[in-house]
Amino acid sequence: MDRRLNRYLQGMASGQTVFVRNAGANVATLKDTLGSLEGVESVTIITHTDCGAMGVVEQVLRGNDRPDDLAEFMRPFIGLRPDRDEIERENGELQADAVRKMMDVEVKSILVNTGTLRYESTGRYRALFMRPSGNTVPKERVDSTYVIQNSPGDRSTDIYIARNFLKIREFDQE
Ligand SMILES: [Zn+2]
Repeated sequence: MDRRLNRYLQGMASGQTVFVRNAGANVATLKDTLGSLEGVESVTIITHTDCGAMGVVEQVLRGNDRPDDLAEFMRPFIGLRPDRDEIERENGELQADAVRKMMDVEVKSILVNTGTLRYESTGRYRALFMRPSGNTVPKERVDSTYVIQNSPGDRSTDIYIARNFLKIREFDQE
């Protein structure tokens, strides 16, 4: 959902691509969303460095936080060391493996280094709910908006992380 990926993803838009965005590219919290997609030929899991959701994973693995709301979200990470960089490196393939178990499609993962991305800091951020589609965030909101782009039934973990860890207070509906 990270706003810093917005411009990068705009560059990937094509008539063939459907974007799904959530906290940490976590497949376990996307059951409704993935079940509703049709005609999928390939899936690319896009994770990134300096990921807030992986910071949450680290905190939970350290035992600093054990919210029941994150049980599904945490399942792929049980047993990993609480090392943020290592978790970020592992996450893409953990999620890709989860997709491979659910769908008979080509799956790959990419870890984007946020240090290479172009974005501006606007200081005040909102979140925008979107349905999975080829649409990306409107241009006027490209630097200020975290995007949760999935089926409404899959959003509870994303809202929890956005509120409690990213400190986002304002949520808009597309
Ligand atoms: Zn992230």
